[in-house]
Formats: sequence, structure tokens, C-alpha cells
Amino acid sequence: MAYRYLFGPVYSRRFGVSLGVDLSPDKKSCNFDCLYCELGAAKPTDKIKNPPPPEDILTELKDFLASNKKPDVITITANGEPTLYPYLDRLIDEINKIKGDTKTLILTNSSTIDDKKVQQTLQKFDYVKLSLDAISPDVFKKVDRPLNGVDISSILNGIEEFSKIYRGKLLIEVLVVRFVNDSLEEMEKIAQFLSGIKPYRIDLGTVDRPPAYRVFPADDETLYELARVFEKYDLPVNVVERKYQYTPDFDLTEEDILNTLKKRPLTEEDVETLFSFRSKMILQKLEKEGKIKKKKLNGKNFFVGV
Ligand code: SF4
Repeated sequence: MAYRYLFGPVYSRRFGVSLGVDLSPDKKSCNFDCLYCELGAAKPTDKIKNPPPPEDILTELKDFLASNKKPDVITITANGEPTLYPYLDRLIDEINKIKGDTKTLILTNSSTIDDKKVQQTLQKFDYVKLSLDAISPDVFKKVDRPLNGVDISSILNGIEEFSKIYRGKLLIEVLVVRFVNDSLEEMEKIAQFLSGIKPYRIDLGTVDRPPAYRVFPADDETLYELARVFEKYDLPVNVVERKYQYTPDFDLTEEDILNTLKKRPLTEEDVETLFSFRSKMILQKLEKEGKIKKKKLNGKNFFVGV
């Protein structure tokens, strides 16, 4: 079965083998337009264009789970922001019925976390990962470029409220862009705020996939210096590094590969680690045909869709 909503599996830096579910297959639909977005630049919106029916997503998911090695985690994401998907609550209820011991994870930019309905839905996930790149309104606007009306103070209130009711593992992602949110002062503000939240883990990373705008990653030295700010507050911080632990050898078709690279560029190491021999041959063929290409960023070669 060729999948329209599933992509990967890809190796996620912290969760192991992750099967992605894309809730916005037609068009990037996000209420942010982050400088570092790996999906390309797009005008922010609060609507997902043509949201897919949950039944169609579940049909694909059941097929995948019945015919493949079980992923460690099912990651709900979007070609944009997944909490804008209008059927998210129904979808997670149904996924929870069929997932077995695979975990569920949602990656959200936190923009809707002050909405009580969103908070109720997110409580149904095993892991919730909230992005928080800045506290100062001007820095927030510069790095995340949100839709008018999305403000950082509501996001902070929402995160605080949600952390009090959520029983799963609450993760925070801070993405550092050189010269934009890489100051010790901004990190101090984030750390101070998070010390009242007590997240399970904070992932501190930088641009490592081709970004939407011409921005630059922080170097390792800066990242470790910023991480020390969180340690000062006794917060569990992890500087994101790529780790490869085992080789599941996923057999992806031509369509699966094109679909995956359109949504998420993969490094040469990703391909080496995850793809079966047959899938690697298909990838080479696609590159020769010009349907995918290689792009260099931060010293790493990425395969990207064209
Ligand atoms: S990085 Fe995430 S939150 Fe930012 S614009 Fe892209 S999809 Fe939206």
C-alpha cells in the first residue's frame, strides 16, 4: 500500500525508530514561519488546508503496523503545526486503541497550548514535545515569526497550566539560531521559566537541516555554554547530537522515499542506517533521475526532495 499520510520511518535523535504521521499532506500549514523551518518558508495560517479524514489515516496506520517491524514511537506531526488539525482528539483516541506498546508523541510549536481543548487532547499522548525558542516578545517574533495574534505570554501561561495537569512525559525543545536567540540572557529567561515547569527533558539543538531562511547554526561550544545555564537551574538538558544505535533496515518504495524526503530531508547517515539495500538502490536511481538532490548544510550532506 502506498502511503499518503505516513512517512519514514526515520531515526529520531531521542525516540528511536519513529513513524511519522502527517496531518497536512497538501500544503505547509503552520501559524509560525520559523527562520529555521525545514519545510520551507510559508505565510503563517491557522488552518490546515484539506485536513485528511482520520479514518483514512487510521487505514494506513493499521496497514503499516500489520506488515512492518513495530516502530518505537508514532509521531504526530504535520507539514506545519499538528494542533491545527481539527480532528486531532478523535484521531489520538483511535490510535491509542491500536498502538499496542508503541508510544505516541506529538511535536507542537506550543502556539495553541493555552486552549483548554488542546490541553485535554494533548493529555492523551505518551510524550508531548513543546517548542520554546524565546521568552522575550521581540526575540520570539524574530525567530518564530508567528501569525498576528499569537503572543508569547499566552503560550507561557498555557505551558504552565498544561504542566500541572499532564501525566505523560513533557519535553521541551529549544532551537538556537546563531545571532538571533543564542544570548546567555535569553537562555537565562527560558531556564528561569522552565524551572517552574520541571519538564522531563529539555532538548537544546540548533539548525541542522536546510532552513527556510538564510540563518546559521550555533556552534557546539555555544550550545554547551547555553546548556550550562539550564544546569544551573537543575534542569535536565540534553544537547542534541545525532546517535545511531541499530539498523532496522526499512524497505521503502520509490513513492515512500519521495514522500519522506518532501517532508523531512535525510542525511547520508540516516539513509545508511535506516534503508534496506533495495531502498538505497532506489534512492540512487531517484538522484540520477533528478527527482531528489543532495544539499550540504553544516558539514553534512542531506538528501532532499526537489
Ligand atoms: S519549524 Fe515547525 S513551527 Fe516553525 S514554521 Fe516550521 S512547522 Fe511551523
